[in-house]
Amino acid sequence: MKKNNLIYIIVGFILLAFITGYIYHRGKHRHPFRYELDLTDLNEWYHGLIDNGGDHFVINFVDGGPYDFTNDTDLGRDSLVWTKKEDEYFIVYYPRDMDPRKGSFLANRCLDVAHEAIPDLERTMGKYYYPADVMDNRKLGIYLPQKPSDYGRVINELFGSTTDSEGSIGMTVATVTQCGAIVEGIVIHPSCFEADAHVLNGYRTTLRHEMSHYVYFMSVDYGVIAESRHPLWVSEGIADFIGRSRNQVSGADSIQFIAGRCDLNENFPQDGPYPNSSYWAGESFYKFISDSIGRKAPAAFISTLYHAPVESGLAQLFPNDNPKEKWLESLRQNDTLRHPEYLSLLNPKR
Ligand SMILES: [Zn+2]
Repeated sequence: MKKNNLIYIIVGFILLAFITGYIYHRGKHRHPFRYELDLTDLNEWYHGLIDNGGDHFVINFVDGGPYDFTNDTDLGRDSLVWTKKEDEYFIVYYPRDMDPRKGSFLANRCLDVAHEAIPDLERTMGKYYYPADVMDNRKLGIYLPQKPSDYGRVINELFGSTTDSEGSIGMTVATVTQCGAIVEGIVIHPSCFEADAHVLNGYRTTLRHEMSHYVYFMSVDYGVIAESRHPLWVSEGIADFIGRSRNQVSGADSIQFIAGRCDLNENFPQDGPYPNSSYWAGESFYKFISDSIGRKAPAAFISTLYHAPVESGLAQLFPNDNPKEKWLESLRQNDTLRHPEYLSLLNPKR
């Protein structure tokens, strides 16, 4: 064999190995396909979340399929109404009648935040979905309505029906079909861009929070979820943990609340002086496992939950201990729990 041929073969092999590795890397992130989904059970689970204060994401359940997964059917495709700014991973849609400099500026800020969030999502949730991982190379759409009154309208149009978005500043709209799930888009309330908006309500925190919902709703096996009924704190806690709201205020009464009324296998109570407990107490749990077990603990936990009930994730992390007791022990020592009253003012539903 001539030396040149050998070099070609070696180069060819390296290229093939590279491409195979690339395809494998991308392909392994694909979300599960389920062809025998019980939509009645799914609807029950979903409405359980909504009743528990989860009006920050809406899910459409489409009986049957196939469904068009391309961006060609996006709400933002209407170029008379929307302008778009896109890169290889995301499409940001802003209204045609928005000042073009402002629209372009806000869209660029969102693209920066979204790109920056990807490695954090991969590390904290075990995966991220690039367009090559999603059917028809779908990019994640991000909508920036101009006026507060447009916010609910855009959500309703994306959802395809009327839904209550009162009090929310960010919304993830998903469609679950019998041949896979897609996220129609993320909608960010215009108040998130106000110069004096508190960091908790800012577009960065909100977009990161919603992108966590994107990964979660693309990853869960809906067949398992329908049976095991993940409580709301699982998705909201990790979304606030990734959003990096970092608002830590001490609160002995909050620890008392968790000790007396929160069961990790159930939805946390939302009544009385403790609204949004799925958010602050949920985030506190993820912070606890990250601090006490290690930075990889949240990813290990949520990755188990993509295919299993909460008990399985907890049993894996705490084979010999009671997770709630350990959590409370850590809270009593560190006293870093966020105060719910403070949060109810500053942390509207996302
Ligand atoms: Zn949320």
